[in-house]
Amino acid sequence: MKAISKFQAVVNCKCPRCREGDIFSGKMYSFSFKGQITNEYCPVCNLRFEREPGFFYVSMFVSYAMNVAEMISASVATYVLGLPLVYENLWYYVGILLLTVLICSPFNYRYSRVFLLHWLTPGLGYIPGSGAKTK
Ligand SMILES: [Zn+2]
Repeated sequence: MKAISKFQAVVNCKCPRCREGDIFSGKMYSFSFKGQITNEYCPVCNLRFEREPGFFYVSMFVSYAMNVAEMISASVATYVLGLPLVYENLWYYVGILLLTVLICSPFNYRYSRVFLLHWLTPGLGYIPGSGAKTK
């Protein structure tokens, strides 16, 4: 199998070591509470995704940063699209921000963990061919 780039691995939520196995099972957006589950181990190279106990708590901080960026973007977009920033429109802005947070939360859940695994975990990098050993 041809190796994929790190960017493709991040976009497709692939394992940071073999870039073949899926980090998540299930769809990002679904109406089931079992929609997306982080796999405990990579199905291809058997890497344990939760590197240490509480590892994914750090992804909350990544998710927080993503949320802030999305809310600022939504606010600026709302303002640019023509809703004046006056007191009478306060609840429109609050509603738009809450809707943005709600819509983006499955995305943030998934990609905060992917960013954490791919970019913020020292010592966890791509090892070419690591997926082929266990197949
Ligand atoms: Zn893997």
